[in-house]
Amino acid sequence: MYDKSVAELSQGLREGQFSSLEVTRSFLDRIAALDGNLNSFISVDEGAALRAAEDADRRLAAGDATALTGIPVAHKDIFCTEGLRTSCGSRMLDNFIPPYDATVIHRFKRAGAVMLGKTNMDEFAMGSSNETSYYGPARNPWDTQRVPGGSSGGSAAAVAGRLTPAATGTDTGGSIRQPAALCGITGLKPTYGRVSRLGMIAFASSLDQGGPMARSALDCALLLNTMAGHDPQDSTSSTVPAEDYSEGLDRPLDGLRIGLPSQYFNEGLDTATGERVRAALTELQSQGATLVEVSLPNSALSIPAYYIIAPAEASTNLSRFDGVRYGYRCQDPVDLQDLYSRTRAEGFGEEVKRRILVGTYALSAGYYDAYYKKAQQVRRLIKQDFMDCFEAVDVIAGPTTIGPAFALGAKIDNPIAMYLEDVYTLAVNLAGLPALSLPAGFVGGLPVGLQLIGRHFDESRLLHVAHRFQQATDWHLRAPDTIGSEAAR
Ligand code: GLN
Repeated sequence: MYDKSVAELSQGLREGQFSSLEVTRSFLDRIAALDGNLNSFISVDEGAALRAAEDADRRLAAGDATALTGIPVAHKDIFCTEGLRTSCGSRMLDNFIPPYDATVIHRFKRAGAVMLGKTNMDEFAMGSSNETSYYGPARNPWDTQRVPGGSSGGSAAAVAGRLTPAATGTDTGGSIRQPAALCGITGLKPTYGRVSRLGMIAFASSLDQGGPMARSALDCALLLNTMAGHDPQDSTSSTVPAEDYSEGLDRPLDGLRIGLPSQYFNEGLDTATGERVRAALTELQSQGATLVEVSLPNSALSIPAYYIIAPAEASTNLSRFDGVRYGYRCQDPVDLQDLYSRTRAEGFGEEVKRRILVGTYALSAGYYDAYYKKAQQVRRLIKQDFMDCFEAVDVIAGPTTIGPAFALGAKIDNPIAMYLEDVYTLAVNLAGLPALSLPAGFVGGLPVGLQLIGRHFDESRLLHVAHRFQQATDWHLRAPDTIGSEAAR
């Protein structure tokens, strides 16, 4: 049961081969048996999941089901869930029970999906390894001594470990694509504004975007169908109509032009990973795509620009966590100043504090022009590079990461090394583009990803290319054997 895709489960439920209650129980059993090792969930709400499954079964029986009715889904613990703790991976929100659902959560509930629980993540989505989580790191199911990536590491580990058929994630600079690559699953970061940010705890508001994480492109399309669309309550939500993203995925790739930026195949890329990515591109070529050399001349500037803009926005967003309104409050403050400073000193972890300091500095009166304004100008150039490439090609492709998953502890004490993890993903967020990572093969037994970047609102093309690749390959079907416990079958 646990090895079935969302599409297979959806069909089986509608044909009455099994009930949502059975499906939900089997995943809850796997979580109970295996998550002690993976630590991919922060909260699991068994009672609510089983009740939602019963509701879904009634809906299925009444013939009023959507593609996701009765399908278990796990949500990154950054999406507010009414009545269920939403920690954002932080001590600051360890006791926070939201009074409302994020729009994304609301849409999944409305579709009849079953929420299994909330997944582990880097604190406030700041990190690339899940190690900044207050709840300890999630582990990579392919090798539990290695990181699953971050910040949506819990979602990626849970999907790869078959603890849930699908999950949500968020991507500010790579947090859907990088963990998807390192865990051997498919993850899509939609165009900025495609998915509502209402109730998605803000890290860097001009970059944050929620998206689906699942084993295949088809499953991601089914999830995106539920997630995408205008939200009048989010002023940055796009009014461009959403599509049926599962439509037309089988058509041939003939005529597709794929751009390969020289900057994405540079010395920083692990050789074996580069070979896997090139082999994947050859497969797309054999299906009728043309490969074209392109250039993104300003891409080396994406790390410095991002690490000014993201911390700047984070420093203002996180000012709301002050011990007064919600979340953690320090013991016995002597005065207001003491309340603020001890609450924040005790409630935030090291990486979050580093970002607040950097961001506050970059925005301060004397430095604003030199740092923040300059970074915004560079952002514009980075976006223009992509626009120029899309004159000549339909999709841009390259590796998602510089190599496969690294060992737990290997980079956590070296922020610069950790920041370099996102060298191929950050520019996409700065430009607001959609991008997808899909499994492209293995290096030393560990999965690596192929990244596809599209024009604004061209999610359906990315899903189409990925789906065609997955029709011809089985990388996305491989399961890690470290987690295949017979007991939980
Ligand atoms: N790793 C990047 C960071 O720490 C991106 C995180 C994200 O996309 N949420 O900022």
